[in-house]
Amino acid sequence: MKKLTKLIAVIAAAAFTLTAFVSCGKKGNGNTIKFGTNAEFPPFEFISANGVIEQFDGIDMAIAKQIADDYKMGVKIENIEFDSLLIALQNGQLDAVIAGMTVTEERKLSVDFSIPYYTATQVIIVKEGSPIKSAADLDGKLTSVVQGYTGETCVSELGYKYESFKKGTECIMELVNGKCDAVVIDSATAQKYISDNPGLVIIEDNNVFAHEEYAIAVKKGNTVLLNKINASITKMLSEGKIAELGDKYCGN
Ligand code: GLN
Repeated sequence: MKKLTKLIAVIAAAAFTLTAFVSCGKKGNGNTIKFGTNAEFPPFEFISANGVIEQFDGIDMAIAKQIADDYKMGVKIENIEFDSLLIALQNGQLDAVIAGMTVTEERKLSVDFSIPYYTATQVIIVKEGSPIKSAADLDGKLTSVVQGYTGETCVSELGYKYESFKKGTECIMELVNGKCDAVVIDSATAQKYISDNPGLVIIEDNNVFAHEEYAIAVKKGNTVLLNKINASITKMLSEGKIAELGDKYCGN
């Protein structure tokens, strides 16, 4: 009887250790990277029935998954408003932000950025036949932008009239419904919107809109995670993995 009690105790202890180990592997802090994003930015992040991480799909989501896989860590996505992402990162609610986020001097004051993984630019979307042919033609017109995006900064710095919305799709609806004359937004996302909405075209103006670089943000001073992210991005870039993802999600 004593032997049996002992055996049960040993089994229970082993089961406890195993449970502790398994749950630590799945949920323990430090074993799961919690990425923040705003899943309103195709082809980088969007909601899909069969996403690469649960219901989240896109280039950034595949990159986030690869980073976690490289270190045999779990991955979790928090979908929050773009404007709140860096605040959530600073508050410790997130480990990293991956959101097609352009590195800017202003953002660099509050967070640290990884090496860049993608180059984009702002473009103008108009209706076919629009008289707008360059950024200067936005003068005297009404442009829609997404609140907090670099597109908003660009149009506001140019001094042109604009309205800001929470989502890119809302800006596109304004344009389609004739409530504004143009939308200024990141290039790859613009491509996605024009392929979904016949009758819209893209106007580029490289003299006015400079190149922007997307990178992953971490809390200031989190060099441990930043070094891991940088090593993964370097590997993905050298293996051509990010270009492959671009082809896959942009349908080039
Ligand atoms: N690249 C733009 C920015 O950083 C837009 C990013 C996004 O909407 N997810 O502001």
